Amino acid sequence: MDSSSHLPDMSMAPQFGGGVGDSQAVFGGSANPVEIGTASGSPLGTIAKFPTPPPSLGRSAAAVRRFMLQSAARELVPGERVSKCLRVPAGSIVDVFYTPSARSAHYAGLQTCGSIWMCPVCASKISERRRLELEQALAAFDGVLVLATFTVQHGIADALAGLLGGFLASLERLRGGEPWRRIVTRYGVSGAIRALEVTYGGNGWHPHAHVLFFLPPGVDLDAFADALRGRWLALLARAGLAASWAVGVDVRAAGGAVGDYVAKFGSQWTAAHEMTKAAVKWSRGAAGRSVAELLADYALTGDGEAGRLWREYAMLFRGKKHLVWSRGLRARLLPELDEKTDEELANEHDQLAVLLASLSLRQWSVVVANDARAELLTVAASGDCQQLLDFLRLLGCEIGGD
Ligand SMILES: [Zn+2]
Repeated sequence: MDSSSHLPDMSMAPQFGGGVGDSQAVFGGSANPVEIGTASGSPLGTIAKFPTPPPSLGRSAAAVRRFMLQSAARELVPGERVSKCLRVPAGSIVDVFYTPSARSAHYAGLQTCGSIWMCPVCASKISERRRLELEQALAAFDGVLVLATFTVQHGIADALAGLLGGFLASLERLRGGEPWRRIVTRYGVSGAIRALEVTYGGNGWHPHAHVLFFLPPGVDLDAFADALRGRWLALLARAGLAASWAVGVDVRAAGGAVGDYVAKFGSQWTAAHEMTKAAVKWSRGAAGRSVAELLADYALTGDGEAGRLWREYAMLFRGKKHLVWSRGLRARLLPELDEKTDEELANEHDQLAVLLASLSLRQWSVVVANDARAELLTVAASGDCQQLLDFLRLLGCEIGGD
């Protein structure tokens, strides 16, 4: 199965995004920066829009869709930072950078939100960097990796708020107290990483957590799984929730590509993907819709109920940590790597870039009014200043010298 047909964001372009002050940008490099003069043009109002893309997308079409979904998020949660992300200038110019080695482009000089839960553009970038970081950590570990998924029983009538409180409290309690210390000692647990996720299916909201456990070689996995189940069911009961013994905790070995997930997502799907891609997963065909699909259904098909559900999710997950490493694990596995916040990752550009153009605020407002932020990057990814100028003229920007 072609993984890209289900997960366009696996091939996400980390260079798309933008931000303020790209410290690695090289000014006056191989492409000559263009000062575009003053703009007095008004938006054309209608320019040819890219057709609605299917889930299987090339890199630039995937970027266009991320911006389109970001605009939909802005409609649904207008007061949140995502509504300003890569839209509202941070200063008096907006720079367009071109990265020759990747044949890609990004912005600088715009506000960015860094929201893994709400912003498809930032989430794509953050999740890919978190995945690479996690792959590196897993490669540095010399033991048995186990991916456990903790779930809770739910019904179509359950509001997400009601489920999530007890679920998160149970997750917190799982890693504390004497019962947990006994499990850690008995099975030699040297660390764990927790990822929070939610989907929406025939039985309503399905909050769940993937926890990657770091265990010693030769560990008795069946006994470990039973210990997890016993503890999890007891904790859920304490929170007034329940799960069945059979499906409450799914435990599987997590080396290399992850068994059943390969069938679901494609041969390159690893534990690191499963852990980091909660906000950008595209699980069409699997049970339930991912949050990315809810937003896409709202944006692309006008599904108002999907939009309402996405807003319910977004406002509840807002500010919640997506990935939590157990204390000391990160320092042991990635001693050389600085820990960065989501905001820092969203603003990072790790390849040498050259300044292709600087847009005045007025010119930028024309780009935004035409909803052409992604298309502009697609054009800029050619590295050709003239194409970019032609595109800006098409939008209605007045260019110096016109
Ligand atoms: Zn953002």
